[in-house]
Amino acid sequence: MNIAHLLLGSAQEFRDLPALARGTTPYLTYRDLWRKVSVMSTHLAGRFGLKRGDRVAFAMANCVEAIEVMYAVWHAGLCAVPMNAKLHAREFAFILENSGARLCFVTPDLFETIAEAAKEAPDLKEIVDVTTRSYTFMEVGDPSPLVSAEPTDPAWLFYTSGTTGRPKGATLTHRNLLAMTLNYYADVDRPPPGGSIVHAAPISHGSGLWNFPMVGRGSVQVFPESGKYEVPETVELMNRWPECSIFLAPTMVKRLIEHGSVADLQPQALRLITYGGAPMYVADLKRALDLLGNKLMQLYGQGESPMTITHLSREYHWDRRHPRWEQRLASAGRADSCMEVRVVDEEGRQLPVGEVGEIICKGDPVMAGYWNNPEATARSLRDGWLWTGDVGAFDEEGLLTLKDRSKDMIISGGSNIYPREIEDVLNLHPAVAECSVVGRPHPEWGEEVVAFVVKRGAEALAPAELDQLCLDNIARFKRPKDYKFIEALPKNNYGKILKTELRKLL
Ligand code: AMP
Repeated sequence: MNIAHLLLGSAQEFRDLPALARGTTPYLTYRDLWRKVSVMSTHLAGRFGLKRGDRVAFAMANCVEAIEVMYAVWHAGLCAVPMNAKLHAREFAFILENSGARLCFVTPDLFETIAEAAKEAPDLKEIVDVTTRSYTFMEVGDPSPLVSAEPTDPAWLFYTSGTTGRPKGATLTHRNLLAMTLNYYADVDRPPPGGSIVHAAPISHGSGLWNFPMVGRGSVQVFPESGKYEVPETVELMNRWPECSIFLAPTMVKRLIEHGSVADLQPQALRLITYGGAPMYVADLKRALDLLGNKLMQLYGQGESPMTITHLSREYHWDRRHPRWEQRLASAGRADSCMEVRVVDEEGRQLPVGEVGEIICKGDPVMAGYWNNPEATARSLRDGWLWTGDVGAFDEEGLLTLKDRSKDMIISGGSNIYPREIEDVLNLHPAVAECSVVGRPHPEWGEEVVAFVVKRGAEALAPAELDQLCLDNIARFKRPKDYKFIEALPKNNYGKILKTELRKLL
């Protein structure tokens, strides 16, 4: 069971459909991509001497070569280590060393950085810049047959985005990735042959993981020429390519709906926006639905259970007349078809509906463990259950509402306070562009609530106004005791807010 079978199948079924595109221009058909990947695989085994199970890393701005490299790697029975192009040299060094990667593909902008990082990665033998002859030479030669893989063979080391501490490499096997793909067809969408996905978010993360359901159905993967997320370019590509899907982090959805060029988006162009990876605030979500229509779907997952734990369907987003519409929007939806999801206490005992506890889950997408890190694996995987570190509660409809990361929860005067609830309220204020709530140590209460607020526009915003908003919407003890206005919230490379940095500011 090699995940590269998806490409083989599509090369047979959808031979002449485009598989990859650079911006508005088609690049390779499915048949040509398959041929290229099979020849590249010959080089991986021959010229680079790689053996089944060896790791191959890449650090690239989003580009078509990332897909070529990944499929060549799987075709040859190797394991891919996609790295976010925006990492720091020290983080690259850590991942290269920890994964024991033998080879690393780069775009030219990252060659120097990776060469520097490689000094700390003794297993790394070669760095290949995908714009040089060293790479184009990999197209020349005879194709190799697809190497068969066990379902349990590692296929993708997914290094967590690390909002705290060092990244950990979630080991995703061929089975994990295939289960994620089948779950996409069951719960998210069944893309049509000739459909498309625009990779605006990093290919090393959620957007890259969505390549599988697209490849399996003969959809074209479109790479913005800028190599990043720029709203006008993204809108142009969504208009150009039929039945377009896109994965966006909530902050990216917000940028889309706040940008003037969203008005250029043709109503029939967009098929589906999947969003997830961080909380999406209800106020933003409603605006997105008003502007984009019935095109939104939420997923909750993590590197350890890629893109697959729960989902909130398009129907639930759209059913405004339902009495629980708002509660539904505030939730992360119901358990995915191939997952069992529970909310438990510290001993792992299942909690009744409405009670808040840690979210654990079990199913075929759940990682095999953390690469080279048995201690972290033992903490996260217990009796086959993945302890997500997220806190939430189920409701009577079976919908899971995420409260927060367990470590972001604030305990004040013995009461648990979930920052997200307060952030949802503050976001209702039209002058609040973004906000994040954290706890500050307090001698009497243990912790007290502090809100960091980024204002929209230059007008003054009185804390008293925000305070009143909180009083109107949530329990008194939850309201922030202090408001700090700042220019921008600190975020990591995936756009996740770094609460650890905010706490340091206190
Ligand atoms: P990563 O492994 O980098 O994808 O991060 C996964 C984490 O992002 C999860 O454990 C959650 O804390 C958060 N997350 C993912 N999806 C959602 C969602 N739909 N709503 C809120 N938080 C989310």
